Amino acid sequence: MVERTNVSLNQSIDWNSSLEFQKGIGPQRWKVLKEANILTVKDLFLRFPKRYFDKTNIVPANQLNRFYQQTVSAIGQVKLVQEIPLRGAKHKKMLKVFLEDDTNAFQLIFYEGISTFISIFQNDQWFLITGKVTGSDHSPSFIHPRIEKLSQENIELNKHTIERKIYPIYQEKDDFKKVSLTSRGYQKLLERLYPFIDPPDTLPAEIRKRKHLPSLKQALKLIHFPTTINEPQIGLNYFIADELFYFQLALLARRKQSKLVQTNSIMEVGHKTKKLLSLLPFELTKGQRKVLNEIYLDLKQSRPMLRLLQGDVGSGKTIIALLTLCMVIESGYQGAFMVPTEVLAEQHYINYVEMLKKVGITSELLVSGISNTKRSTILKELENGKIDIVIGTHALIQEDVQFKNLGIAIIDEQHRFGVEQRKLLTDKGNGVHLLVMTATPIPRTLSLTIYGDLDVSTLTEKPANRSNIKTIAITPKQRKKVFNAVRENAIAGFQSYIVFPIVEESEALDLKSAVDEYHILKETEFKDISVGLLHGRMSLDEKNEVLKQFTSGKVQVLITTTVIEVGVDVPRATMIVIEHAERFGIAQLHQLRGRVGRSKYASKCILIVYQPNEVAKERIKAILNSQDGFELSEIDFKLRGSGELFGTRQHGLNELIFTDLQIHKEWVIEMRKEAELFLASSHQPESDMVWIELKRRYQEKMALGGIA
Ligand code: ADP
Ligand code: MG
Repeated sequence: MVERTNVSLNQSIDWNSSLEFQKGIGPQRWKVLKEANILTVKDLFLRFPKRYFDKTNIVPANQLNRFYQQTVSAIGQVKLVQEIPLRGAKHKKMLKVFLEDDTNAFQLIFYEGISTFISIFQNDQWFLITGKVTGSDHSPSFIHPRIEKLSQENIELNKHTIERKIYPIYQEKDDFKKVSLTSRGYQKLLERLYPFIDPPDTLPAEIRKRKHLPSLKQALKLIHFPTTINEPQIGLNYFIADELFYFQLALLARRKQSKLVQTNSIMEVGHKTKKLLSLLPFELTKGQRKVLNEIYLDLKQSRPMLRLLQGDVGSGKTIIALLTLCMVIESGYQGAFMVPTEVLAEQHYINYVEMLKKVGITSELLVSGISNTKRSTILKELENGKIDIVIGTHALIQEDVQFKNLGIAIIDEQHRFGVEQRKLLTDKGNGVHLLVMTATPIPRTLSLTIYGDLDVSTLTEKPANRSNIKTIAITPKQRKKVFNAVRENAIAGFQSYIVFPIVEESEALDLKSAVDEYHILKETEFKDISVGLLHGRMSLDEKNEVLKQFTSGKVQVLITTTVIEVGVDVPRATMIVIEHAERFGIAQLHQLRGRVGRSKYASKCILIVYQPNEVAKERIKAILNSQDGFELSEIDFKLRGSGELFGTRQHGLNELIFTDLQIHKEWVIEMRKEAELFLASSHQPESDMVWIELKRRYQEKMALGGIA
C-alpha cells in the first residue's frame, strides 16, 4: 500500500471534523458551541450572519445636511430626551431625542409610542439610526427612523478604523459573548480556519459553471468576509441553487417512483362517509363538493393520489380531509392526518373524535407530549389495525410508528413540512394516497414548478354564511378602548384572542409579551371575565386544558402568541386583537385574522400598531384593504423587494432555507431545468442517493435550528 504524502493534507481540516480540538477553541468555547449544536467545522461555517453592518453607509453627524430626503444611517449617543407638547393639539405630545457622535449632534422625532421610546433611549446609550434626513441645516433630524441599540462591540467597531467596511453580525447570544464569540470573535475564528478547509461542492461543477456560481469555499468567503455589501448575495446564490437543485431532483424522483406504484383503489362511497356527511351541522359548499369529487376520482385510480388542496384560511379544508379519510377507511385501510403544531392536532382531535365515533371510526391523537404508556398503546393499536385514524404532528413520522394497512396520508398546512417528511409518512404503507393542504398561496407562476408533481384542487369560495372581517388599525393610546370592546364581546357571549409577538418580556425589552400582559390584564381590565394563556412553551397538558376551555367557551379571552397562527378553529371567537402588528408579516397577519370570521357572527380584527417603519405601514395598509390571500401575497412580495438577505422567509417551503420563492423565482425555474437535464443525462443518480442527501439536509437544518 502506498502512503499518501501530501504535505497540505496534514494541514487541511476535514469539513466534517469535530470542533473540539481545533485551534482557537478551548474547552469553554467547545462547551458553548456544543450546546448550540455547532459541532463540526461545517456547522461553524454554515452559521450565517444575521445581517451586515455596512460602515460605508454611515454618515457622520456633521455631514447629514448633505443628505436631505435621502435614507442614510448615522450613529449617535443619547444626550437628552425631551417630551414636548404639540401646539394646537390638546394633550398631544412629541418626543425629541438628541444624539451626538464625535462630529456633531442630530435629533430624532417621535409622535407615537412615546412612553416606549422614553424607556428605550437611555442616556449615553449608542444607537444606529436609519431613515430619511429631514429638518434644518443646523439640526438634521429623523422622524420615526429605524433604531438599533448598539452593543459595546459595535461601537468599538465604529470608533476604530479597522480594515473591513462590512461587518457580519451573527446572532449575539449571551453565552457566546461570554467566551468572546461576539460577532467579531466568531468571524476571527472563521478567518483562522478558513485557509485550511476544503469543503466538497455538492452542486455539480458543470451547473456551477453554467450558472456562474462560486464554489462552496468561495461562497463561504463572500458570506463571512465580504468586501462589498453585494458579495453575500453572490455567495448565497450557491446555497440557493444547491438546495433548489436537490429539491427538484427529489420531486422528479418521486414523480417517477409513484408512477410505478400500484395502489388499492376504492370503489364506492360507503355508508360511513354518507352518515358523516349527514352529521355535519352544515351543507357542503359547491366548491367543497367539487373538490371532494376530484379526490374521489383520484381514489378510484390504480395509482396513488398525489393532490394538493389550496384554499384560503377559513375556506373549510378540514372537513374535506375528514371525508377523504373516511372514504379510504371504509374500504379497509387506515389513515394518518399530520399537522404542524400540537395545538392544531389536539383541536382536530377534540372537534372530530365524537363525530367519527358515531359513524364507527376510531381515532387517536399522537403527539410528542403524550406519556410513554399512552404512546406505546397507540403504537400497538396502529400496528394491529384497531385505530382507524391517527391525528398527530411530526410524532407520526418517527421510525417506530407502524401501521397495519395505511391507505391515506393527509398533511395539513403542508408548507410547514418538507418533501422528505411527506415521503416518510407515505412510506409507512404501500401505494399510500396523499393529500396535502395549504392556505399559504404560492404565486401562481411558480406553483406549477414547485408542485409539478402534484395535482391541484382549489377552494375559491368561503362558506356562504360568512361576513367580512372588519379590520382596523389603532395606536397604543386606544388600547383601553379595545380591551373594553373585548370585555363587552365576552359579556355578549363571544370569545376573543389577543396575540402578542413574544412569550416573555425578557426576550425583547421594548415589546409587550403574552405572559406579562396576561398577569396584568387578568387583574385589571379583565378582572370580571375569564382569561386564559396559551403559548408554545407550555406543556402539552397545559395547552390542551386551555384550548379545551377556550373551545367550550369557558375561557372568554385567550392571551396568546403565534402558536394559534395556523388552523385553530373556534367559531364563536369573533374578535382578534394583534399587539405590535408592525412586527408581523403580511402572511402571518392574514393567517391570524383568519382565526375569526368562522361563523355567521360579525367579526373584528384590531391591529395595535406601535412603531411602524415605512414598510410596516404599507403591510398594515394592505391588510386593512384586502382579505384575499392571493392578492396579499403578491403585495407582500412587492413590499419586501430583495433588500433582506436573510430575512424571515414567508414564501418558502419548509425545506428551502435560503430560497424565497418569489424573490428567487428565476432560480427555481432554472434549477428545475438543471435537475431534468441531470436526470436525462448519462449520470443517472440512484434515486436513493437523492433521498439520502435530502434527508441529511433536513437533519442538518433541524440541528442548526434553521438559519441563525
Ligand atoms: P381552513 O380551510 O382554514 O382549514 P376550516 O376547515 O377550519 O378552514 O373551516 C373553518 C370553519 O368553517 C370551521 O368552523 C368549519 O366547521 C366551518 N365550515 C366548513 N365548511 C362549511 C360549510 N360548508 N358551511 C358552513 N361552515 C363550514
Ligand atoms: Mg385548516
